[in-house]
Amino acid sequence: MKRRPRRVLITGAAGFLGSHLAETLLARGEEVVGMDNFITGRVENIDHLFKSDRFTFIKQDVTNFIHVPGPLDAVLHFASPASPIDYALYPIPTLKVGALGTHKALGLAKEKGAVFMLASTSETYGDPLVNPQPESYWGNVNPIGPRGVYDEAKRFAEAMTMAYHRYHGMPVRIVRIFNTYGPRMRREDGRAVPNFITQALAGKPLTVYGDGSQTRSLCYVSDLVDGILRLLDSKSTGPVNIGNPHELTILQIAEAIKRLTKSKSRIVRKPLPTDDPKVRRPDITLAKKLLGWSPKVPVEVGLRRTIAYFKAGC
Ligand code: UDP
Repeated sequence: MKRRPRRVLITGAAGFLGSHLAETLLARGEEVVGMDNFITGRVENIDHLFKSDRFTFIKQDVTNFIHVPGPLDAVLHFASPASPIDYALYPIPTLKVGALGTHKALGLAKEKGAVFMLASTSETYGDPLVNPQPESYWGNVNPIGPRGVYDEAKRFAEAMTMAYHRYHGMPVRIVRIFNTYGPRMRREDGRAVPNFITQALAGKPLTVYGDGSQTRSLCYVSDLVDGILRLLDSKSTGPVNIGNPHELTILQIAEAIKRLTKSKSRIVRKPLPTDDPKVRRPDITLAKKLLGWSPKVPVEVGLRRTIAYFKAGC
């Protein structure tokens, strides 16, 4: 017998990750209700989804009471500014969407009897004192620094999600997302990959902050979406890291982008932002064991696809 499509609400559906998730769920035959207030989301990211009669959209700020008519099988809470530049520009909305928005989205999921998934982050580990970071690590976060608005909101969101699970017996999932890149990142969002690509393509200097020895581990967006959807379909309550353990220095990432774009740009140094984590690499033992997941797209392949997207003028 053919099963009825699942009806999934995605908050932040017009954002980088939200729009890729929506697209993949629709391709799998599910129904998607998208929600976004367009602070950092963009209508261009979801324009093409309106062709599907299984896609609907509600423009709303998720920090206010949310009403979604009809049943929901899952609520995916992905709304939030997500780059250091964005959370410096929108510190209070960032705190509100992680705290109040998570509360509203949990309340809605409870009302509908839906599974709730929180988009959490490797930032819950702060400037980590262990590398790679397993889910059992409690982190090293400066609560009052400029990144604290994001880190602490997400840590609160995890606490709130676990409280709903324990107190109301709700099924919940928490995905700790590590640095992800790919098409639909905004060129002006200030993160390393879009910055370096736009700078390299424009023949401008690539701005490496600090001495470039700090590390990040880049996960291509299709790998991330695959991991997230496996987690949604699992029975796993506690946080699960999803990211690519291939750790590179920021200087190596800048050099790779310079090479792949065949750019003549120089690499220049700029001051390191406050509380910039020195290392970051996911321990994905749990994701491998629980979900049978590991990333497939090598960084060079993913970077080429992302460069093609930026070259196309998006
Ligand atoms: N970074 C950089 N140049 C840029 C943008 C970022 O050197 O133009 C560095 C930043 O200081 C950090 C790393 O790249 O060490 C990753 O920064 P991003 O904003 O992409 O994400 P984060 O992992 O810090 O949230």
